[in-house]
Amino acid sequence: MFPKGRFGYQVEREVKLSPVKYFNARLLHYSGRFATNPEYLFFARFIIEQKKISDSINIALTKVHGQSLTASHLRSNAQSLQNLICQDQAYLFLRQIPGTPPYWQKFMYEVVAMVKQLGIPTWFMTLSCADLRWPELFQIIARTKGMNLTNEQVEALSYNDRCSMLNLNPVVVAKHFQYKVETFFTEVLLTTANPIGKIVHYALRIEFQMRGSPDLHALMWTSDCPKLTHENKQAYIEFIDNHVQACIPNRETDPQLHELVQTYQNHNHSKTCRKYKNVPCRFNFGQLFTKKTIVAEPLSDNIPEEVKSNTLTRRKEILHLVKEKIDNALNPNKPDYDSKLTEADIFSSLGISEEQYYWALSISPDSHYELHLKRPVDSCFINNYFVAGIKGFAANVDLQPVFDHYKCVTYVCSYFTKDETECSQAIMNAAKEAKTANLNVKDGLRKIGAAFLSSREVSSQECVYRCMPELWLRKIFPKTLFVSTDLPEKRVRVAKTQQELDALDNDSTDIYKSNIIERYMIRPNCIPTVDNLCFSRICCTLL
Ligand SMILES: [Zn+2]
Repeated sequence: MFPKGRFGYQVEREVKLSPVKYFNARLLHYSGRFATNPEYLFFARFIIEQKKISDSINIALTKVHGQSLTASHLRSNAQSLQNLICQDQAYLFLRQIPGTPPYWQKFMYEVVAMVKQLGIPTWFMTLSCADLRWPELFQIIARTKGMNLTNEQVEALSYNDRCSMLNLNPVVVAKHFQYKVETFFTEVLLTTANPIGKIVHYALRIEFQMRGSPDLHALMWTSDCPKLTHENKQAYIEFIDNHVQACIPNRETDPQLHELVQTYQNHNHSKTCRKYKNVPCRFNFGQLFTKKTIVAEPLSDNIPEEVKSNTLTRRKEILHLVKEKIDNALNPNKPDYDSKLTEADIFSSLGISEEQYYWALSISPDSHYELHLKRPVDSCFINNYFVAGIKGFAANVDLQPVFDHYKCVTYVCSYFTKDETECSQAIMNAAKEAKTANLNVKDGLRKIGAAFLSSREVSSQECVYRCMPELWLRKIFPKTLFVSTDLPEKRVRVAKTQQELDALDNDSTDIYKSNIIERYMIRPNCIPTVDNLCFSRICCTLL
């Protein structure tokens, strides 16, 4: 644009340039002058999303309930198409726009569909962004400024230097995280080494933390994990023990791993731990120690209610005592911390026996299984990890076994697909206002789009994610496809363009664009293999 202010994103060009393409070229400019300017970045995001919203509005305006009308009826009554436009599009038209609440709502449906189809996943995995500690990242950022940093120079950088370098170029930081995630999947997780089992399906989501850096959350389905049942308990425990750890590794035999676990996996309570009332730490730290992995089972239904409730009270008392001791004496951040404490010391100081403690651990308080991972006394504040993860990704990793259908759907799936409620609220309010003000559909949608554009707090790295198509916020394997199998008049259809409608005969009812159901119905029946295909198989070929 400099010095004459020409060639902005709106200029007429011989080859049309969409805002996304235009701004991506700018943000990836070799000089880094656009990428390092936060105002420019936020401006780019605004324009890109504004364009996406206006495109979505135009598409939403062609989606109508599939009533049977003739072309002449539509032509003689221009308002009739307007009347058919689905009112529920008010919220749904934002689905196509990454990061909006309806976008995450759609993701939730897809994940629930996966659980329904594939069963519950084996793991819930989190990979964090340790951008402050990744030396190569500082070398890359320095290189964009024409400098070469040695490992020693990176080592010598102060915390403040590191922060200001990271803030300098959010485009490089976001792209680097994405690159690390993708490489970790192709070079580690999905290889035949199978570090967390044979992965067959997965659903991934990028989430942004309060400080603005991305995290990856993942649900992983494996083909070699035994299903947890009473009979299969031992096989399940073996599988878990082979893949996930919760102990500080031996300093002598593996100093590198020891260092990594100490650096990344220590749980320090923070503000986010106390999100829920009466729960001192929602991540449940300090965790209970145990010599081996235990699957706690629910009490049998045959036990009389009174015995049951006494048993559960006794269980609770014992575990509560131990937990209190752990929180005071085994938390490295507490004044009473004692690194030399043994299980026997703890039992004798509390006046309980080893048998009593392990008895209490073996009982689940409700009707679901509970898992206590093998964890020595010195590791009560160590977050679950897997060796390939922490060595390969060099950041805080978390690997939680998922074994309960109910908890998977109510807790894991909803946590995994949550959206920012504040933004949802703003959109809902705008939708309500549009309704009471009796705006026409198009203006109503515009109002909702504007509410989204103006309501959201976004970090600069999130901004980068939303400007660059190659940085995804979610990814699913296998893909899913939603097909409406409602009654024909209730299905949402896309109306033909005005030009196409004008070309139709008066009594033609062919006013909608063709869709997959229609194409399925007219498949040639002279070829048996095609004729015998069921509808869902046809849908699969489209994925
Ligand atoms: Zn905590």
